[in-house]
Amino acid sequence: MTSPNPASADLFARGQAVTPGGVNSPVRAFNAVGGTPRFIRSAAGAWLTDVDGREYVDLVCSWGPMLLGHAHPEVMGQVQAAVARGTSFGTPTEPEVELAEEIVRRTPVERVRFVSSGTEATMSAIRLARGFTGRDVLVKFAGCYHGHVDALLAEAGSGVATFALPGTPGVPTSATDLTLVLPYNDRAAVTAAFAEHGPRIAALITEATPGNMGVVPPEPGFNEFLAATCREAGALFISDEVMTGFRATAQGGWGLDGAHEGWTPDLMTFGKVMGGGFPAAAFGGRADVMSHLAPEGPVYQAGTLSGNPVATTAGLATLRLATDEVYASLDATATTIKEAASAALADAGVAHRVQSAGTMFSVFFADGPVRDFAGASRQDTAAYAAFFHAMLDAGVYLPPSAYECWFVSAAHDDRAVQHVLDALPIAAKAAAAAQERTR
Ligand SMILES: *Cc1c(COP(=O)(O)O)cnc(C)c1O
Repeated sequence: MTSPNPASADLFARGQAVTPGGVNSPVRAFNAVGGTPRFIRSAAGAWLTDVDGREYVDLVCSWGPMLLGHAHPEVMGQVQAAVARGTSFGTPTEPEVELAEEIVRRTPVERVRFVSSGTEATMSAIRLARGFTGRDVLVKFAGCYHGHVDALLAEAGSGVATFALPGTPGVPTSATDLTLVLPYNDRAAVTAAFAEHGPRIAALITEATPGNMGVVPPEPGFNEFLAATCREAGALFISDEVMTGFRATAQGGWGLDGAHEGWTPDLMTFGKVMGGGFPAAAFGGRADVMSHLAPEGPVYQAGTLSGNPVATTAGLATLRLATDEVYASLDATATTIKEAASAALADAGVAHRVQSAGTMFSVFFADGPVRDFAGASRQDTAAYAAFFHAMLDAGVYLPPSAYECWFVSAAHDDRAVQHVLDALPIAAKAAAAAQERTR
């Protein structure tokens, strides 16, 4: 039974009258789990407070950005000082140089360009890859999300090496008929696609560790294999680190478990954590590739608010505070929560699988390991919905979809973690009861 939440219900009704579905990004509408989305009024540290005055430990963290927790005093102080100096000048500024230096220091990219969303970052990286190689074809993996870029909102065609179909109405076939969609972790499919279309392939784009179908780590050597395949074909290897960047580890997905031994992406994309809760994202990579961007080179790309001084100040403050100790504490918190979730589900007899990438993890309501989107799709989403609502009632805000990562922050202290641990056994029993009903 869902607790009463009249103020959220009222805002949701008003929102639906003026905004499609009452939300400005679809997953927020709770369609995958049912019920009324909670409208959040404020947040501090690990806690959200909704418009009905109810509090939740936040395991979504704005879908990743809030690495240090909400309204971090030091970050807020620097942002407020930046706001007081003026919010946008349409000129270069100091914080954007400093943030670019910080990103170049922490990652393999040599040059970086700021934009305002992850979507813009991947869209621009793809344009640059096409401009640099003089080729048109893109390769992506089913279940990897790279923002709502037309060419990437694609569904696999009828065979492995056949071109894709639009994944949504509104995307013309001309936007996806240069996109190949392959099953993740499938080397044979990659080899076949490059054998057939290699000389036309501009780039392959992948998430460093996919997190947008839940966490599905690359099998050992898979990223290295992709990089080598691209290199041989003269295509660029784009590692989308919008979610994993500065989140999975201090370096991002690239820094996972020595996963980068032997490979460096030609281009990378970043967002989420590097914006510190503001709209900032970036793409970057090899200097010779990046020099093809205007004004140095011929590939056009621009943005009125790109490198905005408030957003870059927030990102810089966040990254500077994201020390090795912060990542160690995130790791410990993530481990405690994922082990407790697994134990509670096992006790209740609910089949599940926890998969992680550094400090990111997800709990699949599925039997056995998940290595691709087809595996992720075999989840018991009804059991997840029951689990989600029981956690929500107990004051824990999980992602309102079984296909998402759980995120923790450095502000998840013992009290917040204990609150989650107390809720898990109750929610696991609710999931078991939901499975009982459908049996
Ligand atoms: C969130 C995300 C994006 C899109 O970023 P937006 O800022 O939502 O446009 C792109 N790629 C990955 C891997 C993401 O997780």
